[in-house]
Amino acid sequence: MLSYQHAYHAGCPADVHKHAALARLLVRLSAVDEPLTLIETHAGRGLYSLTSPEAKKTREAQQGIVRLLKDGKLPPSHPLAKVIAKTRRRHGPAAYPGSPLIADTLLRPQDSIHLMELHPQEHAALEHLLGDKKNISIQRRDGFEATYEMAPPTPKRGLVLIDPSFEIKSEYTLTAEFIIDLNAKWTDGIILLWYPMLKAGYYKDMVGALEDAMLPGFHRSEMHFAKPENVRGMFGSGLVAVNLPKAFQPAIDAFTWPYPF
Ligand code: SAM
Repeated sequence: MLSYQHAYHAGCPADVHKHAALARLLVRLSAVDEPLTLIETHAGRGLYSLTSPEAKKTREAQQGIVRLLKDGKLPPSHPLAKVIAKTRRRHGPAAYPGSPLIADTLLRPQDSIHLMELHPQEHAALEHLLGDKKNISIQRRDGFEATYEMAPPTPKRGLVLIDPSFEIKSEYTLTAEFIIDLNAKWTDGIILLWYPMLKAGYYKDMVGALEDAMLPGFHRSEMHFAKPENVRGMFGSGLVAVNLPKAFQPAIDAFTWPYPF
């Protein structure tokens, strides 16, 4: 399908939920003096502008990162705030980092980063942004296929971020199956999945299938940012982690949306 474009949604509350958790996890993982691997199945273009025509059209970032920073709700000491500040120094005051740039900013030269992005323009933009980095590989291919093929990666310690666009209903089932298969092949890799909480409730079967699979270190964190009855589509965002050490759970939980309804 590939009609989804993240530029319309960059910096929205759900994006910040995912990026805040990712940034904290990467800080925890890289505090250990051993190299690690980060894989992204659905990388996106890596850098967004909150003044782009797409961002202006939806204004989603206004309720997300713009409001959060304006109200001082994301402390400057938070790893995501640090990445945003660095991104803005380099790319201008309206820049917002995608997950590949967050990883590039927080990880070390000895860490390996593998980014999969299927969309030709998003892939080209990502290549332009990070293609010259020695520790980063960027592939224009299906993220599930490429990740399964390289699992377990070298270094074996690490994390997979799974952030599909969920354009078609079958992606929910495919994602649950992929996570179960990947965990069987890379038994100690941490898996972090982001999903939209839509009124239609498609995510429920996916999360239910993952719960039923009794995967090790399973942890779930959900954030509601609207009352389901007040919105047409997404009312919250969710994260599921597998193989997550107990000590890392707060890295995912500690972000609370500051505008409870
Ligand atoms: N992870 C990014 C971030 O947080 O900045 C956002 C990624 S966006 C939600 C999903 C991306 O997956 C889109 O750029 C889309 O083109 C890409 N995509 C869709 N299907 C894919 C597939 N099968 N393999 C790899 N990338 C895919």
